[in-house]
Amino acid sequence: MEYRFTLIPGDGIGPEVTAATREVLRAAGLRIEWEIHDAGQVAVEQTGSPLPDAVLDSIRRNRIALKGPVTTPVGKGFSSVNVGLRKALNLYACLRPVRSLPGVASPWRDVDLVIIRENTEGLYSGLEHVVAPGVAVAVKIITREASRAIARFAFEHAKAEGRHRVTIAHKASVMRLGDGLFIDTVREVAADYPFIVTDAVEVDNVALQLAQDPSAFDVLLLENLFGDIVSDLGAGLVGGLGLVPGANIGDTAAVFEAVHGSAPDIAGKGRANPIALMLSAAMMLHHIGERRQATRIRESIATVLAAGRTLTPDLGGSASTMDVAAAIADALPRT
Ligand code: ATP
Repeated sequence: MEYRFTLIPGDGIGPEVTAATREVLRAAGLRIEWEIHDAGQVAVEQTGSPLPDAVLDSIRRNRIALKGPVTTPVGKGFSSVNVGLRKALNLYACLRPVRSLPGVASPWRDVDLVIIRENTEGLYSGLEHVVAPGVAVAVKIITREASRAIARFAFEHAKAEGRHRVTIAHKASVMRLGDGLFIDTVREVAADYPFIVTDAVEVDNVALQLAQDPSAFDVLLLENLFGDIVSDLGAGLVGGLGLVPGANIGDTAAVFEAVHGSAPDIAGKGRANPIALMLSAAMMLHHIGERRQATRIRESIATVLAAGRTLTPDLGGSASTMDVAAAIADALPRT
């Protein structure tokens, strides 16, 4: 085997979309040995913990993981598995490219933007407490250190991918100190990249402009919660959650996963669209330098979508998850 990566099949539709994605990677000729580990609900049932140490050890060893969606059991005192994973491995950058795909009914064509979300702090710091009956406080943390790290990531990404503008989306008119620090720190880092235009736009205005004309932006850089919300808005611009990939990246490890959740309403029915995870796998290949293979997989996905014959129900078709995998495997351009 050429590579050894960690695979987390996950909950709900996770095992179906990961199996479909593995099929395409295998058909492309990639020789990957998968270290398979459970996290989320399945792991609780087996080990009592939603994020067993074995999962983290495996990712630390292999440095790369492909992950299906995992659900955090509600009401059992567990904090979010996804947040825990990002914190434990310091996967501070969440990268979500939002691109139009052929043959997909969506409000916009030719969308091509990148959403970069700070993954470790903001309102996801988990610091919440009740200060008096009927009064709860949720703390939003912004540090210069984390802001600098995500800014460096965003500008390096823009430089590597030939993008020319980074827009900071914020709400500094209300959160003057926190979001103010975020903007100031990003601007300090921006000084090292004079060839990239940097601007700052209030996040509500970003939402409006995205809905009216997504080509208004190139790279969007956001703190944690704004990034979460704007990412789903981005998915809506290009045809829905079944199509948008993502990656959580740190200095020593990276986890590739679709934006969507475990979709319990369609789990086990073979109706899940595997394309978001397949595009996440293409990001994984790009990340490790297998750029030609990443391009082949993206091209094959585009071919199948444009043909419109093998689509899952979310895209108006009646094909199963594995039908889509087989069609994409068949359509892979020759090497
Ligand atoms: P979570 O809390 O884990 O985010 P959720 O139910 O709020 O879960 P999703 O699981 O992302 O969010 O699902 C939202 C809707 O989108 C559901 O109706 C689901 O069936 C649909 N959906 C999500 N992912 C896919 C997919 N890959 N293929 C088809 N439909 C999907």
